Amino acid sequence: MEKLIQRVRGMNDILPEEEAAWSFLESNAINLFSAYGYKRIQIPVLERTELFRRSIGEVTDIVEKEMYTFEDLNGDSVTLRPEATAGVVRAGLSNGLFHNQQQKLWCSGPMFRHERPQKGRYRQFHQLNVEAVGYSGPSLDAELIVMAARLWNCLGLKSPTLEINSIGTPSARANYRKALVEYFRARQDQLDHDSQRRLERNPIRILDSKNPSMQVLLGEAPLLTDYLDAESCTHFEEVKSLLSGVGVDFTENPRLVRGLDYYNRTVFEWVSDQLGAQSAVCSGGRYDGLISHLGGKDTPAVGWALGVERVVELLRVEGSDVPRRSPDAYLAIIGDIGRTQSFVLGESLRDSVPGLYLLVDAIGGTLKSQLRRADRSGAKLALILGNDEQKGDHISVKPLRDDRPQLVLTLDELIKHLRNGVD
Ligand code: ATP
Ligand code: MG
Repeated sequence: MEKLIQRVRGMNDILPEEEAAWSFLESNAINLFSAYGYKRIQIPVLERTELFRRSIGEVTDIVEKEMYTFEDLNGDSVTLRPEATAGVVRAGLSNGLFHNQQQKLWCSGPMFRHERPQKGRYRQFHQLNVEAVGYSGPSLDAELIVMAARLWNCLGLKSPTLEINSIGTPSARANYRKALVEYFRARQDQLDHDSQRRLERNPIRILDSKNPSMQVLLGEAPLLTDYLDAESCTHFEEVKSLLSGVGVDFTENPRLVRGLDYYNRTVFEWVSDQLGAQSAVCSGGRYDGLISHLGGKDTPAVGWALGVERVVELLRVEGSDVPRRSPDAYLAIIGDIGRTQSFVLGESLRDSVPGLYLLVDAIGGTLKSQLRRADRSGAKLALILGNDEQKGDHISVKPLRDDRPQLVLTLDELIKHLRNGVD
């Protein structure tokens, strides 16, 4: 026998049994996006490497060590997207979407990061992303955050809590950076290897370190909040008061800096205490500098990304009531001559009963074995088209989930019966 080929580490097969939860999340999210005026944009999975180097930042975990980068057959360096914002901005600029106009966009799909695989952290994972481009005021920051809160509500999730911070303007950060470098220089012996390297090139990133032995040092470091510019402070106050005004609770976390370079002002993370170490389920913020940085006009923007695998896991852990659809009916046949009739009957039932979820037996065998399959399928009714029923143009209807008696119906009566059941 040939050896089975293994999947690539960190890349998951998402199996049919998980479909209900994925669809539940996606359909609720898409309904919400459209109810807030967000339109779908679809962007390639593969982009020029330069796009991510320039937008995410050279001294970030993603660009330094997590990207799937390779040369294509022309020798061009390309990268599997590690996140969506850079691609959405690139696409918006390439297609003139941001020229003197606002855009509310959403997209979804797989992202790729060569991280250490563990529960909740994969090398291929999926995101739902929203981006609002061309809006500078605090109401869009708040709207995006509230939209996530509304999504948890629709999904019946209780555990996500909101952490927010403002990281100010680039010049406020430059002042803070000086203070931070001074602080870390005086304690250089306590820095881990990564942080030593970052000290010169991107010291604020040190705060993002997950290394447990660094946490005390980080806990006593100067706070960015003390260096914020006045306008960012006002913006932040307004975001918070909008959130409070609609009853969305939050915790201010002055150490929340986010892992990507392009954020300014508002940053936020929805976290859950039900997921173990990989607790962030939805993260985002404002990125007013990114569009000009990628060659466009100065254009403000704000967005978030939700980790689909983590939210699906949360649905499971919290025991959310995920709707699962079972077949309305399973059509069994007796005898081979019924095969064509049952095929035709199946299609005419689909024509006459909108939304009908019908399985037509395609394997055959004894009625008993077909009814066993009908039962396993979860169908509510078995429809039995037998030789006698064909002659008289009648179909037997056998309830599979309760003790109601079996009926023998004409086609018209069956259609009515099914319409009542499907509505
Ligand atoms: P983390 O701190 O967990 O590494 P992050 O800050 O790198 O997250 P973002 O780049 O903001 O995450 O991505 C948005 C969301 O995507 C995260 O909140 C998380 O839910 C999800 N996510 C990020 N990386 C992974 C991964 N490797 N596997 C599964 N989900 C992920
Ligand atoms: Mg990360």
